[in-house]
Amino acid sequence: MSSIPVMIPWLGEEEALAAAEAVRSGWVAQGPRVAEFERAFAEYLGVPHAIAVSSCTTALQLALIGAGVGPGDEVVVPSFSFIATANAVTYLGAVPVFADVELSSGNLTPGTVEPLLTDRTKAVIVVDQGGVPVDLPAVEALVAGRGITVVEDAACGAGSLLNGRPVGSGAAIAAYSFHPRKLLTTGEGGMVTCQDGELAARLRRLREHGMSVSAADRHAASGGASVVETYDEVGYNFRMTDIQAAIGLVQLGKLPAMVARRRELAARYRELLGPLGERLVADPPHGSSNFQACWLLLPEDAPDRTEVLARLAEKGISARRGIMAAHLELPYKGASRVELPTTELLTGRSLILPLYHSLTEEQQDTVVAALREIVG
Ligand SMILES: *Cc1c(COP(=O)(O)O)cnc(C)c1O
Repeated sequence: MSSIPVMIPWLGEEEALAAAEAVRSGWVAQGPRVAEFERAFAEYLGVPHAIAVSSCTTALQLALIGAGVGPGDEVVVPSFSFIATANAVTYLGAVPVFADVELSSGNLTPGTVEPLLTDRTKAVIVVDQGGVPVDLPAVEALVAGRGITVVEDAACGAGSLLNGRPVGSGAAIAAYSFHPRKLLTTGEGGMVTCQDGELAARLRRLREHGMSVSAADRHAASGGASVVETYDEVGYNFRMTDIQAAIGLVQLGKLPAMVARRRELAARYRELLGPLGERLVADPPHGSSNFQACWLLLPEDAPDRTEVLARLAEKGISARRGIMAAHLELPYKGASRVELPTTELLTGRSLILPLYHSLTEEQQDTVVAALREIVG
């Protein structure tokens, strides 16, 4: 029986050659290709600074340090997100404070954030969940003048647009993921972007052990003999490799085609699923999604989601449960200060449909027929 996975990254010979070239060059750690990938990514977004890192999780950790978050501070986050969003806060000894999301987008709104702000709130992490652009300006307007930084977790968002501009490009600090579950992949990898030059310079040092001059720059300067670096604060090894960046450069060039294909396939799902299609996640009024996760909210009279997933699996279709809720997992159980009814509804009743660049219309028809049979 043919099987349809939930996601396959769109990788080809060009990425393989780029990785091989990086290997043949002899420079495999962070070097010229990382610098080039950073420039290309910043240019694509239209932001002044992009700092490549090892994952979006480490990107978020740096972003929060940049926002001045430290032990005991509170950071408002959606529970309805991959657990790394909350974990990044916990790593810093700060407290993730869970806010609910709106039903249509799965994202935070000023209305869900506002009741949770206290005088200990240092930052808010807004997430472009599943690629759906969050209304960043609305949340920024809410916290304006209160000394609170809004960090955008755009892990899923490369290729999505907010008011016509790439998601994350308007944020003071944003974090992206290049994990294969997202559109643009480098195997593992991430990027922090920001508007402020001094902040960018600090984050660059922090991702490389706090070094005042990067190893690549020291090497470039006469073999490194004449440049002595200093270490002015405790940093991390959050570097991306040049092999990953070489792949990322090729992938970035393919991003527009990836987004176009995913949007086409999502529209086709919506149309073919009939009334069920109206329960698919859709573009919000203020932007367009890359459909990183194409999720469907099951109707109340549908069979239990576990059963739906099992019956799809019997037909060789690998759908997934919807986006998780961190406050239902052991590290954060009982930690929520407020009820999160929409989060619990979405996490309990949604499922993610197979959607990837090479998904054929025949395969999509198979998924649709199976869903209509099982869900009705
Ligand atoms: C995938 C994801 C992350 C983590 O990304 P990594 O690159 O795997 O660390 C963080 N936040 C959100 C919303 C994600 O979807």
